[in-house]
Amino acid sequence: MTTNDERHFDTLAIHAGQEPDPTTGSVMPPIYQTSTYVQEGVGRPRGGHVYARVTNPTRTVLEDNLAALEGGSTGAAFASGLAAIEALLKVTVDAGDHVVCGESVYGGTERMFRKVWTRFGVDFTYVDTSDPEALEGALRPDTRLVHIETPTNPMMDISDIEVCAEIAHAQGALLSVDNTFATPFLQRPLRLGADVVVHSTTKYLNGHSDVIGGAVVTAEPELGERVRDQQRVSGGVPSPFDSWLVVRGIKTLHVRMERHCENAGVIARYLAGHPVAERVLYPGLPDHPQHDLAKRQMSGFGGMIAFDVGSFQRAKRVAAATGIFALAESLGGVESLIEVPAAMTHASVSAEAREKIGLTMGLIRLSVGIEAHNDLVADLEQALDGA
Ligand SMILES: *Cc1c(COP(=O)(O)O)cnc(C)c1O
Repeated sequence: MTTNDERHFDTLAIHAGQEPDPTTGSVMPPIYQTSTYVQEGVGRPRGGHVYARVTNPTRTVLEDNLAALEGGSTGAAFASGLAAIEALLKVTVDAGDHVVCGESVYGGTERMFRKVWTRFGVDFTYVDTSDPEALEGALRPDTRLVHIETPTNPMMDISDIEVCAEIAHAQGALLSVDNTFATPFLQRPLRLGADVVVHSTTKYLNGHSDVIGGAVVTAEPELGERVRDQQRVSGGVPSPFDSWLVVRGIKTLHVRMERHCENAGVIARYLAGHPVAERVLYPGLPDHPQHDLAKRQMSGFGGMIAFDVGSFQRAKRVAAATGIFALAESLGGVESLIEVPAAMTHASVSAEAREKIGLTMGLIRLSVGIEAHNDLVADLEQALDGA
């Protein structure tokens, strides 16, 4: 047997955390649809499991698989990406503590921090984490956590994870990276010094737009145990079936991501040459401000693209005119999606905050799927020409 450390990502995606079921020989992990487990005697559970909020074998497969893919010690799965981020906050900050957060993180993350955590006395500073000096200036002696996203949504800014980790650690703070956009196939933050990775497994990891889920993976077992304890203490865990769907989705993560990257590269280059697309944001384009960093830090540029068509009216017309690209929020599925962030995914972000990060009313975001890229380009062409 080779150990996980020796195996390649593609092999781990399919096998890590999984053995044929010892009782039936089932090659695929069973869906253990149970809430409780029999005990041999008082306080002596037969298979090590007691109650399914605490542990469920199907969920454990997902957790061990994610830990292997991210190169971490411990994985913990949650019922949504936001439940995962909330669990991380619960184990890293107390009332009176300070958190530094990327200024264009997922809108729901910022909303949770603002609507829930500020009421419990946690203080937040939002900063452009692609600028190391700005990040350094935002840290305080009471900063416990730095939370970043790279690439950001929808501006596709890249932060240097290694530099962010150094800056956070110099003040005794932890660095957490929301790795939803890149996935561990393209970027492994723990190897670059981050302490924690969080995911919305709803997106690329599951990859089929049929599950809401989340996960936390930690570098250190001690922090990982505290996150696992949060599952027991606060709940927020995914169902066995949802866990199983994500496990199944991850088995094709590497092939899907390769195709997402390939298709997005073709479309980004097409858009860059189209007169209606005034500005194309994709880290794979040579004129992207952090293109060199993206090349170093990531093994591919991902499937997300944003581009500006100059006005809200035109953005609405383009987004409503595509045939293959479905007009919808979310991302990371095999099917292509189109949306207008200012009026959809980022409508809860204030106009002032949108302006600060350059999120204009004419910006369109694409989640490029794995259909034939010729069809996708033709679809965008007819939508742009009609606009
Ligand atoms: C979707 C998303 C989340 C939230 O995840 P849910 O599963 O919807 O709760 C967090 N971060 C990023 C980057 C996301 O795209």
